[in-house]
Amino acid sequence: MKRELLLSLVEKFDSPLYVYDASKIEAQYKRITSAFSSVKSLKINYAVKALSNVTVLKLFKKLNSGIDTVSIQEVHLGLNAGFDPKDIIFTPNGVSLEEIETVAKLGVHINIDNLSILEQFGQKYPKTPVCIRINPHVMAGGHHKISVGHIDSKFGISIYQVPHIKRVVENTGMHINGIHMHTGSDILDIDTFLRATEILLDTVKEFDTIDFVDFGSGFKVPYKENDIQTNIEELGERLGNRFNDFCEEYGRELTLMFEPGKFLVSESGKFLTKVNVIKQTTSTVFAGIDSGFNHLIRPMMYESYHHITNISNPDGRERYYTIVGYICETDTFGSNRRISEITEDDILCFDNAGAYCYSMASNYNSRYRPAEVLVYKGKDYLIRERETFDDILRNQVNVDL
Ligand SMILES: *Cc1c(COP(=O)(O)O)cnc(C)c1O
Repeated sequence: MKRELLLSLVEKFDSPLYVYDASKIEAQYKRITSAFSSVKSLKINYAVKALSNVTVLKLFKKLNSGIDTVSIQEVHLGLNAGFDPKDIIFTPNGVSLEEIETVAKLGVHINIDNLSILEQFGQKYPKTPVCIRINPHVMAGGHHKISVGHIDSKFGISIYQVPHIKRVVENTGMHINGIHMHTGSDILDIDTFLRATEILLDTVKEFDTIDFVDFGSGFKVPYKENDIQTNIEELGERLGNRFNDFCEEYGRELTLMFEPGKFLVSESGKFLTKVNVIKQTTSTVFAGIDSGFNHLIRPMMYESYHHITNISNPDGRERYYTIVGYICETDTFGSNRRISEITEDDILCFDNAGAYCYSMASNYNSRYRPAEVLVYKGKDYLIRERETFDDILRNQVNVDL
């Protein structure tokens, strides 16, 4: 998206503002489907939690994507966006049996990630097919908070417990239709992914009722120049070939699934903020913006890097700035960044603001969550209104004491 467009959207909708480029989402979706074009049956389930706006979900529906959900509320968002329950997979962690039952009754695919619920669910509903989330204990790289494959991870049923899973299946007569893994965000290299794949395929062989194998996600996208990113084309070729061979070996055509969030939406998003104040201390020049970790928490939560540019003064002389928020906590978006000269009221643009940005926003400091805009086929659509004071008061009970 051109900076003139972004500036005009701030004029129109005010700041701070999230803007998503539908064409980038479409391009990423096409990239992954083309990379795996050798696989006869491929299903992409977009991970709703990355960016859960209903209009964005409708865009994915148009693209023929399914969705991956982690709460019953996300399931309802998907149904609201028009998804068929069959195109929704529920991959929760640590939720109640009751929630899983309610979702199963809607006709949504169920993924179970612990033995206790597997056994209880199997006893009550032996006829409802379920997918099992396996933890292959292969470490994805990246930040420790987003690696979920290690031995003490709360995610998935350990590969070492497959004999126990089989016993539960035998005892309950339940039907296992899929095997799943999601080793966490930021899979850095394809060899690691393929190692986990072998473990997963070995597990598939333990069951003769499998229809699909879900490889989760964890694709890495670039956040800055020369950043490591998943080579999806190479993965598509290598995993695609391996998968096709495996289907022959297994004697049945299986569906290969992925559930990417970040890969599909991260780069489509820009977060636009206005500079409230420039503050020079003895050693640092701070640019304070009209936002904070109430709107974008990733840099503070897992030290993620978001490239920041001054779109009001793109050709200005570059200087070093530390970009901070207006929240009464330390909320540094970026330290010592080289940015073209900033003056108060300039608009700063954050890249990679599509995934886990708005969806993690809060009302901390009683601030409003921003508006969201989708640019689709050359037109801008307001897809979420900025909050108002009524939203802050909603559900608060003003008790007469
Ligand atoms: C969060 C999540 C995803 C998406 O991960 P990305 O790194 O955004 O691609 C996929 N599957 C499950 C089960 C998840 O919890």
